[in-house]
Amino acid sequence: MPREIIQRRRNIGIMAHVDAGKTTCAERILFLAGRIRQAGEVHDGDTVLDFHPLERKKGITIQAAATTVKWTPSSGPWAAQQHIVSLVDTPGHVDFTIEVERSLRVLDGAVFVLDGASGVECQSETVFRQAAHHEVPCIAFVNKMDKPGADFDACLVDIEDKLQVRAVPVQLPFLRTEGGLAVLDVVTRELVVESNGGRTATRLPVPPEAHEAVERARLRAVTVAADHDDVVMRAYCTGNDVGADELALALRKGALARDFLVVTCGAALDDVGIGPLLDAVVTYLPSPRDRTDEPMSALVFKSTHDRMAGLVTWLRVYSGALRGGEAVVVMRPGEGRRARERVGRIFIPDADGREDVDVACAGTIVCATGLDGVRTGDTIADPKAPVALDAIRIPDPVVSVLIEPKTAQDRDRLGPALAKLVACDPSLRARVDEESGQTVLSGMGKLHLDIQVEILATDHGIAVSTGKPRVAYRETIGREAEATYRHKKQSGGGAGQFAVVTLSVRPGERGSGILFVDETKGGSVPKDFVPGVERGIRGAAERGVFTGHPVVDVIVRLVDGETHVKDSSPLAFEIAASHAFRDACRIAGLVVLEPALRIEIATPEAHVGDVLGELASRRAVVREVTPRIRARAPIATTFDLVPRLRAITHGRGEAFSTPDGYDIAPADVAKALLEKV
Ligand code: GDP
Repeated sequence: MPREIIQRRRNIGIMAHVDAGKTTCAERILFLAGRIRQAGEVHDGDTVLDFHPLERKKGITIQAAATTVKWTPSSGPWAAQQHIVSLVDTPGHVDFTIEVERSLRVLDGAVFVLDGASGVECQSETVFRQAAHHEVPCIAFVNKMDKPGADFDACLVDIEDKLQVRAVPVQLPFLRTEGGLAVLDVVTRELVVESNGGRTATRLPVPPEAHEAVERARLRAVTVAADHDDVVMRAYCTGNDVGADELALALRKGALARDFLVVTCGAALDDVGIGPLLDAVVTYLPSPRDRTDEPMSALVFKSTHDRMAGLVTWLRVYSGALRGGEAVVVMRPGEGRRARERVGRIFIPDADGREDVDVACAGTIVCATGLDGVRTGDTIADPKAPVALDAIRIPDPVVSVLIEPKTAQDRDRLGPALAKLVACDPSLRARVDEESGQTVLSGMGKLHLDIQVEILATDHGIAVSTGKPRVAYRETIGREAEATYRHKKQSGGGAGQFAVVTLSVRPGERGSGILFVDETKGGSVPKDFVPGVERGIRGAAERGVFTGHPVVDVIVRLVDGETHVKDSSPLAFEIAASHAFRDACRIAGLVVLEPALRIEIATPEAHVGDVLGELASRRAVVREVTPRIRARAPIATTFDLVPRLRAITHGRGEAFSTPDGYDIAPADVAKALLEKV
């Protein structure tokens, strides 16, 4: 991919406190810069995952989607050169944990929207800290400058106080005598008057009454920029004027180094400042190119099999550039450096097929062939600078639904369509239940599954009906117990089956699964049969002992056994162990575990009380109320939480949720499950 194309790209996110105007800003940017619809135009290196229509309908964002616009700045060092700006949506929604994690890491830069009348609100502090953690360079847009009570200077002070970063305004708000808000460009010393919905920007000389304010702000900018550029430093020391482009480029260096926060302003609702904001995005935020000089590192987040390409490895490139045919080193968490591998072809996964590329730069998702020795969670890196990235944890599905195609024809097409959905979303699983022959779809939450069902209908033309959502409960035991099972079967003439197994079970740590230990001595169970014992235990645990949900978190010890010279076999031991395990668990008694959700809700203050009331009615434990409501609730009570929250907050609330392990379910839940068996 030619360098200049990458250089003229910006992958940015918009971050804001609820109500600050994130949505309005994004909409105005789309309106002004015109969304690119033609795929060919944008597929020159980056993956552009478009909004799925359903996301719009539901008012949420599922994938770390990007909307791409073209923008030709009217000011700055790259004035008159067309750029491509991808707005990567930072999802704020329940159920899509992995996407949140991914999108935070994929941004090259971010616009931080503040309400000019309220300054830095608590939630903004959190968001800013997150961006800092991911080392994402930011610029600020102080919005709502038309509002009575808006105070730009107070916002600058607030930014410095609360975010602990120097604020460097490159624009100032200006109320024109003929009415209407405009922005002063501090760098070029111009007044930008916008009309025609922001589409026309006229640059005029700074009016005399604003002269002093502009010069003061410019000196502030020159002072901080001097640290990043020798030419500016010399001009500053000798009292010479600094040219607009020189100043902008020096400020850019500081902004990319996160040394200070460049601040712009406007009123999104009135289309004031959106064009200048986009100019600032181009000028002060990084292009993926700014990261391609770093050594390459990419995280493997999924592998799929493809009839044509063989093993396909899904990667997100985090730094540098990944090239086809290149040698890489594989880093595995906990194991350190592993063998070298050679990347085969790389291509961009696309809803309509695939597009081969030679190089993929930081921030992109690509598929690669040839990486047969890697698995999900591995990092592949430049052999000269092997780093291991934190793996994206893909949680186990916690909710499932039965899906039933409405026609026979749909039945045949369901399998392939589901395979596609699963291939695109590592947190989704589909399987056919062996006993009933029905299709079970499992995922991270009810909404997650609802969306898949709608995608089946809209994208694949497959209508399905769904059963009630089912929670992925788990069984465990309450105390220690021991049981012996004697398996003896005579079959006429030939060898029979004989095995005796004594197992002891006791509760293990939460999240530990089934831990098997062989404690037999003196060959009471010959070593050859021990794997059979373990298979029997694991099989029985998977099938569940009491309610058909898997048994977890049990330490199982094989304490004794008996064999028969002729009739014992691994299979006989498998059967005996399976029974012994079930018997021991029955003696130990059932404890039901239910999956829990960690929920974070951001809501305008007026609705906090109602939201807390709603949570209380759902067995939620509230941990914190400000700056965000943080709570933990059983998943079973949260199926309709999202629409409820939306209603309570009049659509203004945002919720994030993460499956968060299992808790012991109350007795009535266990009782209800047992009654169903
Ligand atoms: P979000 O929650 O951050 O996405 O905020 P929205 O974009 O939905 O805006 C919140 C509210 O602020 C809405 O009522 C908008 O109409 C209003 N708003 C957004 N931008 C401006 C602005 O520039 N000036 C004024 N006065 N109101 C605005």
